[in-house]
Amino acid sequence: MKQGDLIYEGKAKQIYVTDDASQVLMIYKDDATAFDGTKKGTIKNKGIVNNRVSCLLFKYLEKHGVETHLLEQIDERKVLVKKLSIIPVEVVVRNIVAGSLAGRLGKEEGTVLSGPIIEFYYKNDELHDPLINEYHARVMSWASQEQLSEVQVQALKINDLLKIFFDQIGIILVDFKLEFGVFEGRILLGDEISPDTCRLWDKESFEKLDKDRFRRDLGKEEEAYQEVVRRIEAAF
Ligand code: UDP
Repeated sequence: MKQGDLIYEGKAKQIYVTDDASQVLMIYKDDATAFDGTKKGTIKNKGIVNNRVSCLLFKYLEKHGVETHLLEQIDERKVLVKKLSIIPVEVVVRNIVAGSLAGRLGKEEGTVLSGPIIEFYYKNDELHDPLINEYHARVMSWASQEQLSEVQVQALKINDLLKIFFDQIGIILVDFKLEFGVFEGRILLGDEISPDTCRLWDKESFEKLDKDRFRRDLGKEEEAYQEVVRRIEAAF
């Protein structure tokens, strides 16, 4: 695999073309942003942790029948993935009230939901990723009904698998965000699953082990990310 030109630079990752048109290289950075990019900083070694965590979780999901873009972790910060045509709809799954849902519904953070909630957000920085529903996605041609149905089946399956996995390592999976894309006509899980894109609470102490430490200036973000990767590595 040969690393070619940079084709995209996001907040947390860079994407490079390779000599194979069906594959791209993702490189994880330590840059951290929150609140629509208005809060900026870095979390030391975050890119290394997120790459490792995401690769291990995607491997676990693949083992249990979830098709993902993962091909091969190349080094600490680099991963080779299938080039997806990304569906511009972010899929959030929630098990416990936290973050934006707490304010929107006036419920206390930590309230356990009677079942998972799936939400869709339109992936658009200029519009600040607005909350949408299936009608918006369908009518705007961001995703077909078949794709939306498939994405929801996959999201619930991923939630069940990850809840079990995290529970075994003493972590509560509060909520998380997924992105899907199309590859050779199939829907695959893309992007990353990491402490940047999940809310993870220690089962005993309820300590936050995710990006909320950065968002809310709680400190010890590097330690929290390291703790997550340490526990995941130990489970493999
Ligand atoms: N999330 C994400 N990227 C986003 C927005 C949310 O990864 O652009 C994740 C976030 O880390 C959390 C879940 O999705 O695990 C739900 O986030 P929420 O809607 O509560 O938004 P926030 O409070 O993070 O603004």
